[in-house]
Amino acid sequence: MNKNRIYRGRFAPSPTGPLHFGSMIAAIGSYLEARSRQGEWLLRIENIDPPREPSGAISQILRTLEAFDMQWDGPVYYQHERLERYQQAIETLFEQGQLYSCQCSRKQIAMLNEPDSPTLVYPGTCRDRHLPPSENHALRVVTDGSVILFEDRIQGRQAFLLQKESGDFVLRRADGLFSYQLAVAIDDAEQQITEVVRGCDLLGSSARQMHIQHLLGLNSPDYAHLPVAQDPQTGKKLSKQNFARPVDDRHPAITLWQVLDFLGQNPPPALQSASLSTLWQWALSHWQLKFVPRTAAIDVIQNETKDAQVLDT
Ligand code: GLU
Repeated sequence: MNKNRIYRGRFAPSPTGPLHFGSMIAAIGSYLEARSRQGEWLLRIENIDPPREPSGAISQILRTLEAFDMQWDGPVYYQHERLERYQQAIETLFEQGQLYSCQCSRKQIAMLNEPDSPTLVYPGTCRDRHLPPSENHALRVVTDGSVILFEDRIQGRQAFLLQKESGDFVLRRADGLFSYQLAVAIDDAEQQITEVVRGCDLLGSSARQMHIQHLLGLNSPDYAHLPVAQDPQTGKKLSKQNFARPVDDRHPAITLWQVLDFLGQNPPPALQSASLSTLWQWALSHWQLKFVPRTAAIDVIQNETKDAQVLDT
């Protein structure tokens, strides 16, 4: 990052449901890093997938952040107001020959992968078919044999060969919706985010977003990927899909203490019953990114009496 530029971070939830402990790790981690560097912290609502957005989810997210007393800078930014810009980027990439129409179904792609492969890699079947762009086809961006390298501030040096990790990936889906990768890549660059602090589950996405930014001549931010909270029983990340419980807006201080603990900041046990403002004061004066465990995931158990308990930091 350019040393003279003001630090600008962001929190970018998709409004697919209420915030849960896992989402608060990204919210609080990005907030504390921005504030401790006298920077700005923006709030971006990633509402580009209407079928997955229950009504009321956006206001619930805003209410939770307010209950936690987390103030964002400037107006809330909504991705659904940016559809024209995303379409324009699609046209640019198409003209540059970096995008092509693909009519393969998920099932067909799965059949071309190993049976138990955890992620599907697209083998480029439609790349040279030159199918005319159609409303019913996905649009994929071309990847090549170059390795995307970056230094993650928590997880260290990263190297991704997109051709092998994902293959050519989708920027506009067959249902006409823009992909998360495209929208985030453009918005992080155009909102002049200097550093993205978010969960480790998105480490591979960072490489894809950097690839898009590169093709569009946009700058890439720096990255810091926090460990994600995972359920020790299933080994899966806490997420709405895995029934993570919404955070309790009535007791934000408890969750804040637990997130600080999760993120290796060692909050004093005596502060477990402190007020929200006392805890924020402590957090803002003690936060250090270097104390965050350099690991991809940490087990937590969720139960009724204690919201979330960190098992192994
Ligand atoms: N919108 C994504 C989510 O809620 C996160 C995006 C990001 O931080 O880049 O999972």
